Amino acid sequence: MNSVTEGKVLEVICPATGEVIATIDETPIEEVEKMYENAREAFLSWSALSIKQRIGYLVKLREYMVDHMDEISETVSKDTGKVKVEALIADVMTTLDAISHIEKHAEKVLSPQRVATPILLFGKKSYIEYMPRGVVLVISPWNYPLQLSMVPMISALIGGNTVILKPSEVTPLVGKCIEELFEKAGFPKHVVQVAHGGKELGAALTSKKPDYIFFTGSVRTGKIIQAQAAKDLIPTTLELGGKDPAIVFADANLARAAKGVVWGAFTNSGQVCMSSERLYVEVAVYHEFISLLKEEVANLKQGTSHDDDIGSMTFPGQLTIIEQQLKSAISEGASLVTGEDPKHWETKKGWFIPPTIITNVTNEMEIVQEESFGPILPVIPFETEDEAIRLANDSVYGLNASVWSLDIAKARRVASKLVSGNVVVNDVMVTVGNHGLPFGGTKQSGVGRYHGEQGLRIFCHEKAIMVDNGNSTTEIQWYPYKNKYNLFLNLFKGLFGKKKDWKMVSKYYLKLKKMDKKS
Ligand code: NAD
Repeated sequence: MNSVTEGKVLEVICPATGEVIATIDETPIEEVEKMYENAREAFLSWSALSIKQRIGYLVKLREYMVDHMDEISETVSKDTGKVKVEALIADVMTTLDAISHIEKHAEKVLSPQRVATPILLFGKKSYIEYMPRGVVLVISPWNYPLQLSMVPMISALIGGNTVILKPSEVTPLVGKCIEELFEKAGFPKHVVQVAHGGKELGAALTSKKPDYIFFTGSVRTGKIIQAQAAKDLIPTTLELGGKDPAIVFADANLARAAKGVVWGAFTNSGQVCMSSERLYVEVAVYHEFISLLKEEVANLKQGTSHDDDIGSMTFPGQLTIIEQQLKSAISEGASLVTGEDPKHWETKKGWFIPPTIITNVTNEMEIVQEESFGPILPVIPFETEDEAIRLANDSVYGLNASVWSLDIAKARRVASKLVSGNVVVNDVMVTVGNHGLPFGGTKQSGVGRYHGEQGLRIFCHEKAIMVDNGNSTTEIQWYPYKNKYNLFLNLFKGLFGKKKDWKMVSKYYLKLKKMDKKS
């Protein structure tokens, strides 16, 4: 669903039908200050709960969502234009899986962790505590509007933070749905607040000094947010765009690779930061593989029913970007293998772009370098493993990649050389489906990681604590220094020299200790 801001109302248009289906009240910018006050007050009691108690709320949230899976999927589908099965699998299920993972692991991950204490600090105890940061601002995009809001939200909440969410104005129905989900699950007042509106509201929220900003969206906005956050040294996680390569070697299971790459390129109409956005095929199988791709695409159905494969685009601005990229590629000599010249696109009844494969492109072209975020797949042949790696790495992005080969040693070797936050061998995108793995990008695809242990700990201050029992009057490194220099020299020689000399260590350590007693 797309929306147009009119006064203080977000008008919601279903992208698959073009109809206005709802309006959502915008949050006035003047309320931002109050939202932070509310969030800071709620933080006092929410952060005082035990992790177990907070897990109790997540359990209720999960159970409520499971009871209402169909309605939630329907809302996501209407709001985005994606087919309902994709809303269920990629938005609802992934959120439920993240909640379950957090229920299982949060207590262990966020409890104090004992750390070994070095010999020089003998007698003390060392550990790390995870202290919530305060108010976390989550700003999310429209392509997976439920998952990309909920997962950072619950990851921040479990650590004891309160959350303000600014969902995308392009999919405001999902924003409203998220607000209701937390209410129905019985979360205490103001622990979660949702600010409905566009980029002005987002900018107002970032300027009011949240304690952490978790942003998912475009590189352009990510840079604006990072610059704003830097003024107050507010820590951020930035999950940004991608132009993810798929590399198909001649020794791959080509039938599987063709199905996988087609799904990876066209699921959610290609509006996926992790989608296969450029394809490199070993020259020996190039023509055969193009034919396989063509066959796969011919079987795809575009529409809005349960049995359709590809829905519509979500946001009209995206159509313009893709149209311009395709026109420019065609004018530079690119050929369409599937799909249509943009001048024939039928967009009157919803914003559908046919799955489009193009050849006769070079790595330098805009359509291979810039994120398309649509169902467009440029294909380039390669001759050697090194060439494939070079072409794949020749990008300002580095979020995700796939490597297709039955020579697993080779595929793993290539995976290791790709400058990318995620790589999948003989499949696409699935790293994000394993919540135990870190998720994030290299280069302009982002800063930081979430999911897994780090996904919970980023929302906490990692506090280093050491405890001494306090019985001894002094420490060897404390004043006075008189006559200590040579003793320390010998102690450190014993400890850090070529071979550890424990006799020497204990001799000089005890001498220093004795001096302490005298002082
Ligand atoms: P966007 O950057 O236009 O908007 C994202 C969010 O930021 C929206 O809620 C928007 O209202 C808000 N925003 C815009 N300007 C702002 C400002 N100045 N201050 C504060 N907030 C502001 O991105 P989009 O078009 O919604 O999403 C598509 C992009 O997101 C693509 O580039 C895609 O690759 C990326 N993305 C990345 C990931 C990832 O995990 N790496 C996941 C999904 C999407």
